[in-house]
Amino acid sequence: KRATASTAKPSPIAPLALLADAGLDVPVLGGRRVPHSNLDVAASAPALARVARAAADLLPWYSSVHRGTGFPSQVVTELVEDARTAIARHVGARDDDVVVFTRNTTDSLNLLALAVPGETVVLDIEHHANLLPWRDRRTVVGESTIEATLAALDAELARRPAALVSVTGASNVTGEVLPIDRFAAVAHAHGARLAIDAAQLLPHRTVDLAASGADYLAASGHKAYAPYGTGILVGPADWLDAAPPYLAGGGAVDRVGLERVSWHTGAERHEAGTPNVLGITAFAVALDELARLGEPARLEHEHALADRLERGVAALPGVRVVRGFSDAADHVGIVTIELERGSVGLVAAALAAEHGVSVRAGRFCAHPYFDRVATRSNGLRASLGIGSSSADVDRFVAGLAAIVADGP
Ligand code: PLP
Repeated sequence: KRATASTAKPSPIAPLALLADAGLDVPVLGGRRVPHSNLDVAASAPALARVARAAADLLPWYSSVHRGTGFPSQVVTELVEDARTAIARHVGARDDDVVVFTRNTTDSLNLLALAVPGETVVLDIEHHANLLPWRDRRTVVGESTIEATLAALDAELARRPAALVSVTGASNVTGEVLPIDRFAAVAHAHGARLAIDAAQLLPHRTVDLAASGADYLAASGHKAYAPYGTGILVGPADWLDAAPPYLAGGGAVDRVGLERVSWHTGAERHEAGTPNVLGITAFAVALDELARLGEPARLEHEHALADRLERGVAALPGVRVVRGFSDAADHVGIVTIELERGSVGLVAAALAAEHGVSVRAGRFCAHPYFDRVATRSNGLRASLGIGSSSADVDRFVAGLAAIVADGP
């Protein structure tokens, strides 16, 4: 049975669960109610019902994490450490990798940027979160194929070595999935480590850090059906242990004297202050839930909907699907289009107001990539999640068709 905004009595957390129902009626500006289809899941994925329940269950347990001796303190401390273990398992961390809890992918990559002992090479396809934090950065411009891009990266590293290569696991502009194992092999052949920006990959694909050969992984809970405010950086401890603490404060220190401070090593070094227990626990529950649903079923659902979406929009006049690599073997459920005429910002607003469809318009915090592969200055991105339905896709395509037919 469908919940509706008018009948439900939401608690502060319950709306997250309600929004997981793709057919939820939600009020739009002006008080009118229209069926709502959230096709902006790549920005933030509404929490799964089990995740929302876990988060709500935790609220009465707020207590001193890692430091208290009372029962609630023991509970929350164990929750954080259990979540760390579970997340490590879900991303295929090696036994000696650390899982550092951060605020989001951006935070994780900034932390790694503080620790990297040398230059970092990135591709131009990156989200700004994987471009801007690196202080000594060199950028390889992507080619029209992944194959040629790997060769360009290889040539760049042969020309001048780097400490780290950092690439996205899946593009937030085109949905293209990159072959992590091949990027790891190229980086390692030149003595560099590989970091994966898994913000878009982790919600859609099983990631196995050890099997892929990648060294570091950064991801965000809020893109993987957990609440805002929690990220992870997973990888070897050595660089992180040699770096100054990301935040200075309680929890990161072993001993503090007025003259001398001795900092912890391991995850604690970079986790000063009270952690986001709710977000951390929920992140682990979300990854458990994705694993329980199983990758084959999730893939089948996602590929079917993405095909339907792409075929639907590609058939419309004046619409072009934006693609970067012609040889990408896999795409997550992200389709970006550009319009021959008119403003995508106005089209996105009309989709929301007239058709109850949420999408993103713009250049998606990946200006260099968008500018290279698109022909217009802005695009419109529709992105799918595990709660998306064919009705959502059809509503978007029909809405877009009606707007395009009306003219700019
Ligand atoms: N990397 C990619 C590929 C993304 O799509 C995003 C967000 O859209 C980020 C990094 C940044 O994620 P966050 O805002 O959670 O730090």
